[in-house]
This record gives sequence, C-alpha cells and structure tokens, in this order.
Amino acid sequence: MHRTDHRHDVGGDGDAPGDADRAGLVADSFRRLFGGDPDGVWAAPGRVNLIGEHTDYNDGFALPIALPQSTLLAARGRTDGLLRLHSAQGDGRITDLAVSGLAPGAVAGWAAYPAGVVWALAEAGHPVGGADLHFDSTVPTGAGLSSSAALECAVAVAYDELYGLELSGPELARIAQRAENGFAGVPCGIMDQMASVCCTAEAALHLDARTPEHHQQVPFDLRGQGLRLLVIDTGVSHDLGDGAYAALRAGCERAAALLGLPALRDLRTEELPGAVRALPAELVPLVRHVVTENARVAEAVSRLREGNAAALGPILDEGHASLRDDYRVSCPETDLAAAAAQGAGALGARMTGGGFGGSVIALVRAGTESAVGGAVTAAFEAAGYRAPRILSVTPAAGARRLVPSAATP
Ligand code: ADP
Ligand code: MG
Repeated sequence: MHRTDHRHDVGGDGDAPGDADRAGLVADSFRRLFGGDPDGVWAAPGRVNLIGEHTDYNDGFALPIALPQSTLLAARGRTDGLLRLHSAQGDGRITDLAVSGLAPGAVAGWAAYPAGVVWALAEAGHPVGGADLHFDSTVPTGAGLSSSAALECAVAVAYDELYGLELSGPELARIAQRAENGFAGVPCGIMDQMASVCCTAEAALHLDARTPEHHQQVPFDLRGQGLRLLVIDTGVSHDLGDGAYAALRAGCERAAALLGLPALRDLRTEELPGAVRALPAELVPLVRHVVTENARVAEAVSRLREGNAAALGPILDEGHASLRDDYRVSCPETDLAAAAAQGAGALGARMTGGGFGGSVIALVRAGTESAVGGAVTAAFEAAGYRAPRILSVTPAAGARRLVPSAATP
C-alpha cells in the first residue's frame, strides 16, 4: 500500500515575472511584429468575485477583486484607419480590419472582443481611429476569471489615452461591456468590466450595478489578517453555459416584470415571502437567489469594514449553496472543489463567475494552502477529473498604463 501525499503545490503571485519585465517583453514582441516602438504598454487584470453572482444584470450588487493575472497590451495609434491585432494566445496571425467597416457579426473569433471596443467607442461618438495592438495575457481563458473583460478593458484604457478621450473608469467599463454584448454577442452584465477597470490593490470593489459610478473600495487586507485566497480552476467549461445564461437572465427579467419592479434588485428581503406566493414556481428559486445574494454582499461588506475578513467564510458557503440549489449554475466539478475545500478546513468556498464550470474560490488560513489544495486535487483524482490548477491570489490593481511609467517625465 502506498500513502497518498496530500501536500500540493499552490502557485502564488511570486512565480510570475513582474509587470516591468512583462511590459519589456511585450514591447519587444510588438517591435518584431509591427516594426518600431509602441506608444505605450497597458495592463488590465482578470477578476474573481468574492460574492454577488448573477446579480449585476439584475441591477444588484457584487464584490469582486482584481487578480495579479493580467492582459498586457502594447499599442500604437495609426492614422490610416487600420486596426491590426495580434495576440500571443491567438492563432499566430495578424488580423487586419478597417475601423470604418466594423459592425456586429463582421469579426469572428477572439478579435471580436478588442475590435468590439473600437466599434463601441466609435458608436458612442468618440473620435477614434486605427491602431497596432499586440496582447499577451496571464489570465487563463475560459476559466471564469474574465479573460474576455481583461482583453476588452486593456483596449479601452489604451484607446482612452491614444485618442485623448479622458473617459472615467465606469464609462470605459460600459464601453467594454457594450463590446461584449453588442459585438461579441455575449449578454454579460457590467461586473467583469468594472472589476477590471476600477479595482484597486488590497481592496474589494463594492459595485452597485445600477449606478457603477458610485462604486466603493472596501479594504481587504488578506495577508495582514493571516488569510489566503485560493483560486481553483477546475479546467472544465460546460457548453450549455451560453444559452443557459441568457435563459436565466430572461427568467429574472420576467419575474421583475410580474412583480411590477424595474429589476429584482428592487425586491427587499422582507418582501420575498409575498413574491414567492405571487410568482410561478419555476421563477421562485431565481428570485430567492438574487435577493439573498444581494443581502450576502451587504453582509460581506460590513464584515470587511469591521476588519473581519475571516467572517466571509460562511457567506461564501451560503453563496455556493444558493448557486447550486436555487440558481442551478454549479456543476459536479465546482461542487466537488467547494466541498473538498470546505471539508479540508477552508473558512469558506464557492464557485465564482457565471458557472457551468470555471473556478472556485476558497478562503483559507495562512499555512493551510497546501492541505486544502491537496484535498481538492485528491478529490478530483478520486472522481476521475483532470487535476485542477490552484493559485493563491491577492487583490491587485485595475487597468493602468505600465509604459511609459508615471515616473517617466
Ligand atoms: P473568460 O472571460 O471567463 O476567460 P470567455 O469565454 O468569456 O471566458 O472569454 C474567453 C475568450 O476570450 C477566449 O476564447 C478568446 O476568444 C478571448 N480571449 C481572452 N484572452 C485572450 C487573449 N489573451 N488572446 C486572445 N484571445 C483571448
Ligand atoms: Mg468572459
């Protein structure tokens, strides 16, 4: 008999090269691809949402943090109206587009996300032209960590400077969301883009999706409180995701209309029992999730403001149960990851992102990362699933220019 070793390597922020080194590399690649120097290098991060899932399109609340993993963009404006796109994670080719020819449905594949941002800016009446854009990202794609928003928001912040637009963070986030909804054809809410643009280091972003301008930074000093946050990428992404997301969204809108409310955000917790009696049975679990989830965001913000991040644990567990049992967007892999983490002593764990696969977050005490990570990996092995990828993350800064750096005159 052999003993199973439950220790496990958990990747941290420390294994990756720093922003300055990455910016230098992406600028070098830009020179090889396009010739000459980029005008600048920008970064936009991926995100995990601590709590407040499937609430943004109900005009509700969320509490995301930006990840240290980000998409870098080396960019240079062009005067001839051409948009040239290349990604280190793409198919190796440069995609050439005319800004004047951009229209929904006209661009296929990954290029729709960055091209959609240029289209959305032009649609909104901003005086934008072409550019040479080279991307290189450390955000895993399709893992529920919002690599799509990172890609869009990198373009939004770069164009803001290249074309002197001086838009606010929430305005840039709305442009990026419009690109994803109207150009790439994904009916997402505003949370991912708001997180990528407006998050700050060592804080969670308290987002009110009805008025993104009124977002607040809530101090989230994980390390100072002896805590760690694990991101467990299950490596699965179930295809039913897209259609199911649109159906859930439509169900929420129907429930709000039946209740005579602008959005489910306007249903108060004490009004929930009455709504349960008034609504068709199939809409009840959706409404219950949204109302209780908004309440969990408020609760989490209170605990963080008291300096008690460990108290987020039970809130994460309740959030996962609500997504699993009421909203029904979890899947066997995310359920197993959350349960294994909880069973191995995590303070709390839940799926994060839209669901049907993707990632699970686990809040753990410092020093227990390997035990929790190892338990999840062992559970996956026993279930016959592919090994998950586990990262320890800290709240990072939102989208910003890296080069030329602020210190450069
Ligand atoms: P998520 O946002 O959770 O990572 P999505 O399905 O919304 O998952 O977005 C993933 C898609 O975004 C990829 O399939 C690809 O088209 C595009 N994408 C994201 N990052 C990059 C990148 N660095 N290079 C090329 N395409 C990217
Ligand atoms: Mg996405």
